[in-house]
Amino acid sequence: MTNPIMNTYGRADVAFVKGDGAWLTDQNGKRYLDALAGIGVISLGHAHPEVTKTIEQQANQLLHTSNLYQIPAQTELATLLTKISGMDNAFFANSGAEANECAIKISRLYGQQKGISNPTIIVTDAAFHGRTMATLTASGTRKVQAGFEPLLNGFVRAPFDNIEAIKTIAKNNNNIVAIMIEPIQGEGGIQIPEADYLPQIRKICDENDWFLFLDEVQTGNGRTGSYFNYQQSGITPDLLTTAKGLANGVPIGVCLARGKAAEVFVPGNHGSTFGGNPLACAVATTVVKYIEKHNIADRAAVVGERMLKAFEQRLSGHNHVKNIRGKGLMIGIELDAPCTDLVARAMAKGLLINVAVDNVIRLLPPLTISDAEADQIVDTICDLLAQQ
Ligand SMILES: *Cc1c(COP(=O)(O)O)cnc(C)c1O
Repeated sequence: MTNPIMNTYGRADVAFVKGDGAWLTDQNGKRYLDALAGIGVISLGHAHPEVTKTIEQQANQLLHTSNLYQIPAQTELATLLTKISGMDNAFFANSGAEANECAIKISRLYGQQKGISNPTIIVTDAAFHGRTMATLTASGTRKVQAGFEPLLNGFVRAPFDNIEAIKTIAKNNNNIVAIMIEPIQGEGGIQIPEADYLPQIRKICDENDWFLFLDEVQTGNGRTGSYFNYQQSGITPDLLTTAKGLANGVPIGVCLARGKAAEVFVPGNHGSTFGGNPLACAVATTVVKYIEKHNIADRAAVVGERMLKAFEQRLSGHNHVKNIRGKGLMIGIELDAPCTDLVARAMAKGLLINVAVDNVIRLLPPLTISDAEADQIVDTICDLLAQQ
């Protein structure tokens, strides 16, 4: 029998029919605690009543008009996001990769306007920026690139969390226009850089007139204990992208720009048919306001700390656990060997998790989980690892 779905994912043999907070129910009525949240998307939990209400209201009113007309919901969302982030303006897209494409185009156009005919962006090892041609070129794993050559020109790579490498590039390459970086690498296995990494990069960018371009597609929207992760480093980027948790499951991405980066585009440079439509913007506005009003980022920091401490207590000395790390509700447990089998074993016990780079258990639960749900995630994972 042929599968009408293209063969792009190795899918688990389960389909969910209903969600409620941090819980999902499958076709057989079995319940699962969702510690992955649709890959960091369902930050307020499944079937959140305020999100549902906004979708209903907006669907009754207006879904789409195109960017050829004013879209007040887009302006409202942009106003909220620029205020929270300290950025100046926003371009709305439909995904993380698309938001990154926008920032890549701004960086290149800025370079061209300065007379750099081969504008080049510094990217890092193990980075993940998406699956479009530009963003897979920017990504740092051969897995997403192999077979899709020719890749794009205009990217140079440095090791992650290594300032000296950036300084060396600064000395030897006159074509650099931006450095594109995840403040915490997600797909790369929850890699958290030294505290002074972003401030030092900010300084190098200022000295060289480069844009600091932060990909907060995964770390944004309260996930790591502040609305954006960079807010914990006392710096502000020139370009900033986010997507995943922005509208709790309705597709949206945004590229925010500041200063010179905010003035690069003119009409005709970039666009999107669906981007920033009234539905996506109304839902994102509800989500952003909810995150702010209910201090969801602070809550993520507290629950994340609780989980991290519990893991450290219960797994320290475990033969196969190499490292436990996290910020807010972005948690990684690194084992000394591949552990992708844990995904199915956790699922059998009613827990949804993910494994990144083959040997890091990655947890991205809804930011609204209760202490009891957090403890249950910890218990189940520790039980599974006890048999490892
Ligand atoms: C998921 C992710 C992307 C890609 O987002 P899509 O919505 O899948 O295009 C880009 N960057 C980071 C850091 C991500 O985690």
